[in-house]
Amino acid sequence: MKITELIRKKKQLLSFEFFPPKKVENDHILFETIDDLKGFSPDFVSITYGAGGSTKDKTISWTVKLQKDYKIETMMHLTCITSEENEIKLILDELYTNGVENILALRGDYPKDGVDYKISTEFKFASDLVRAINIDGRFCIGVAGYPEGHIEASDIYSDIDNLKRKLDAGGSFIITQLFFDNRYFYNYLELLHKKGINVPVFAGIMPITSFSQVERFKKMCGVDIPDNLINLLSDKSEDDTFKIGVDYAISQCEDLLKNNVSGLHFYTLNRSDATKIILNSLGHFNCE
Ligand SMILES: Cc1cc2nc3c(=O)[nH]c(=O)nc-3n(C[C@H](O)[C@H](O)[C@H](O)COP(=O)(O)OP(=O)(O)OC[C@H]3O[C@@H](n4cnc5c(N)ncnc54)[C@H](O)[C@@H]3O)c2cc1C
Repeated sequence: MKITELIRKKKQLLSFEFFPPKKVENDHILFETIDDLKGFSPDFVSITYGAGGSTKDKTISWTVKLQKDYKIETMMHLTCITSEENEIKLILDELYTNGVENILALRGDYPKDGVDYKISTEFKFASDLVRAINIDGRFCIGVAGYPEGHIEASDIYSDIDNLKRKLDAGGSFIITQLFFDNRYFYNYLELLHKKGINVPVFAGIMPITSFSQVERFKKMCGVDIPDNLINLLSDKSEDDTFKIGVDYAISQCEDLLKNNVSGLHFYTLNRSDATKIILNSLGHFNCE
């Protein structure tokens, strides 16, 4: 089922993001996580696409497996920065034949130094990919949004102009980058509305479960970690850090739900422990 149809049926959606394990011997971890989380009846789950298409086959195979065998609505992430149109066409055909109807269309990050890759001559931005996918209307397309602005963007306004290009090309909903201060999210929604963007925006949630993540998130995604959270987390044991990070995410989610967020999208990192505690604490997930 297309996510746009789920949006019509429910007020607030719940989704989980997984990545395809690198090694087959770790597949069981993802299977266990999915088994652990499926009791929360996610509206859909998503499978990431490794930088530069590095996990292409595994991403497709996990997406198809979850959609067909597990009968969970699955959205595949697809990046275009190192792909040409023929390759994208083949991937789309394979997905469609196997009942996958939802794609998160992304530009992707440039692969790390030392990795051999060729930049696409046909796709420069995610909007180019959205246009190519939308050509025959087979798929429901989601796009990425950045409440604090994309790391390469000169400012949030130009980034929102570019987000609009993705929606005008055929994107139907937005999933955000993780954030730790809801004020960024609410301010973003306001800016989107001013720009005439009224599609659902799902909030990307990732609880901090270890102190090393603080610097990593700042550097990788350019997100602001509020001082009060950093103060709470510093010099704490592993167990306390986990508890503080999860409690913080619970308050964040409670506030978002109260303020009618269209959906919560959990970056699970293939682990169920933090997400489970958060969802149990939120109680009944509002799904009228
Ligand atoms: C929910 C979510 C899931 C993700 N999943 C993955 C994944 O599975 N695999 C992966 O590799 N990465 C993933 N990413 C990361 C993403 O690929 C990177 O953030 C990447 O740098 C940008 O991708 P995009 O689709 O937002 O690009 P775009 O929308 O193309 O934007 C990239 C930059 O270009 C600018 N821009 C866009 N259009 C124009 C234009 N016409 N002219 C000038 N500038 C323009 C934008 O403002 C922005 O700064 C994910 C991100 C999010 C938020």
